[in-house]
Amino acid sequence: MNKSPARAKELMRLQENIHSILSESQLDKDRKRWTDILNSVTDQDVERELSISAGKFSPERLAVLVSPAAEDYLEQMAQQARQLTIQRFGRTIQLYAPLYVSNVCINRCKYCGYNESIDVPRTRLTIEQALADADVIAAEGFRHLLLVSGEDKKFVSTDYLCELAGKLRAKFSSLSIEIYPMTQAEYSSVLSAGIDGVTLYQETYDRDVYAEYHLAGPKADYDSRLEAPDRFASAGMRRIGLGVLLGLADWRTETLAMAQHAEYLMKKYWRSQVSFSFPRIRPATNIQSQWPHLVSDANMVQMMLALRLCFADAGIVLSTRENAAFRDHLMNLCVTRLSAGSKTNPGGYGSEKDAAEQFQIADDRTPHEVAEMIRSKGYEAVWKDWDVSFNKLG
Ligand code: SF4
Repeated sequence: MNKSPARAKELMRLQENIHSILSESQLDKDRKRWTDILNSVTDQDVERELSISAGKFSPERLAVLVSPAAEDYLEQMAQQARQLTIQRFGRTIQLYAPLYVSNVCINRCKYCGYNESIDVPRTRLTIEQALADADVIAAEGFRHLLLVSGEDKKFVSTDYLCELAGKLRAKFSSLSIEIYPMTQAEYSSVLSAGIDGVTLYQETYDRDVYAEYHLAGPKADYDSRLEAPDRFASAGMRRIGLGVLLGLADWRTETLAMAQHAEYLMKKYWRSQVSFSFPRIRPATNIQSQWPHLVSDANMVQMMLALRLCFADAGIVLSTRENAAFRDHLMNLCVTRLSAGSKTNPGGYGSEKDAAEQFQIADDRTPHEVAEMIRSKGYEAVWKDWDVSFNKLG
């Protein structure tokens, strides 16, 4: 049977993998080619991109929108992003809460307070303790729960997750995990138990920078981590969360690499929804030299808007790492999901209040204060818009 050139191209694309895509586009190491392209973008290029219909991705389009030249067009980008987000998602913001179940970790990520070489009190929640914290979260009204852990496979095992998910399902309509990468069979098991979303940040797509920050443990393997989204998407996870740790490498080229990953996953696993998160190392006195690529507020906004203008249907997630004023400002531009009232230590909601936090939160408002802010801007705060039983459909 003859295939049209477009279909043949599409099939070729599906046979590619994320390694070859990043390597062929020169985004997994030496990115000089892209830096040159970004620096050569002109005002006319930006105006041309903003004059065409928003929501479609190409590497060239995204490069224009994240370029230094586009910094002068944030207002126009914001208007288009706002319009597009309302068209696709309505005036709604989904709320979720993280539940840390263990801060034990066998990795040595230089930037993280849970790094195994750091001497901090370690806490693992028993199923009963995790359920006690989940009760506090459910009582606030949340129906979306994100289970978070360090790489602690011995304790936070597939069995542990399945047992916990089985007990949480009655209270939460949607459960996701942000833990260590698993095998496809393990992802299938936890999916059957009711966990239907996985967030896994590559941290940086720059292979050389990755090696610099991930010193030991399974996470030091760049390629294995890069393949993990294929494993959970193949297992049937409905929600795929991607992100880079902003501060490790140049944000503009990181955005291009993450977008390539997203496009590849969206095409191959079209039933799943891809979301972007924006964990940012924030500026503080004396840390500029430690983090050579700190991202300013304006640049982070540009990154989020540019991604929205290329991916009309992608989720855009903003956590309590960011302060209240910044979150309020972005909420009605492109964001679809906010966390609220978060505790970033295991047991932080009540069962073990003294355990070490992974990072300090910057927005300490209660979930209801955040919901009130959302309503005050004419949006609806959605505590639940998905039910795990829907996973059986389609
Ligand atoms: S970032 Fe994650 S994997 Fe790395 S040390 Fe921290 S908890 Fe462990």
